[in-house]
Amino acid sequence: MPIGNGFKAENLALSIRRCIKLVSVEEKVPIDIDEVDKDFVDMVKKAGGPNIQSCFQCGTCSGSCPAGARTNYLVRGIIRKALLGLKEECVSSPELWFCTTCYTCTDRCPQDVQPTEVIKAIRNIAVQSGYMLAPHQKVAAKVVEVGHAVPLGGTTWENLREKVGLIRVPPNASGNQWAIDEIQKITKKSGFDDLIGYEEFMKAEAEKAKKKAEEKAKEKAEQEAKEKAKEKKA
Ligand code: SF4
Ligand code: SF4
Repeated sequence: MPIGNGFKAENLALSIRRCIKLVSVEEKVPIDIDEVDKDFVDMVKKAGGPNIQSCFQCGTCSGSCPAGARTNYLVRGIIRKALLGLKEECVSSPELWFCTTCYTCTDRCPQDVQPTEVIKAIRNIAVQSGYMLAPHQKVAAKVVEVGHAVPLGGTTWENLREKVGLIRVPPNASGNQWAIDEIQKITKKSGFDDLIGYEEFMKAEAEKAKKKAEEKAKEKAEQEAKEKAKEKKA
């Protein structure tokens, strides 16, 4: 069942790690006093945006923002909502992830609010609150699984490296099982794997791979049956 902007209810099991409430920062909705979290500003300050309260809403940040020029992302709006204590609206907003961290706003803010740091701090709180975009979850899971966010992906690449005189596997953690084991120990101990929903993610991926293999085997069997039938006819 669609729940807005194409999100489906059946995806909700994993969507706890994703932005499930797709509310544009541009939407003008009345503020519900029960939604106000008085501690949110302090949380943002502690998480890495200590100057947030210096913002006087001049809009220089949004006016300079290349991400905002192409999307409905409004950095000033997110900061305003944070200052009002609208935690849930801030952390569940998909626009929160549109910032490219180019730092233009930080260079230009007349109040030294350091908007980029504020956005990064709110992102950290968002992840701690269970909101993470699916592509980020996938990259994080890859690091835990194979020790690298962008692993080589098979012997084709290894052969290609060898052909041009490089060692088959680059000298990073992905080529060293002991390093992968260490990464997995660290992520388990620090709670990072829980934070990204690693086990559920890997189960879902295994399920997907199994389904794909079954479909492939079915297609192959059907093809073979067709060919046999053709041969019989001939
Ligand atoms: S430029 Fe600075 S003071 Fe102006 S709205 Fe943005 S964060 Fe606030
Ligand atoms: S750092 Fe982010 S919010 Fe600031 S101007 Fe760049 S894209 Fe926009």
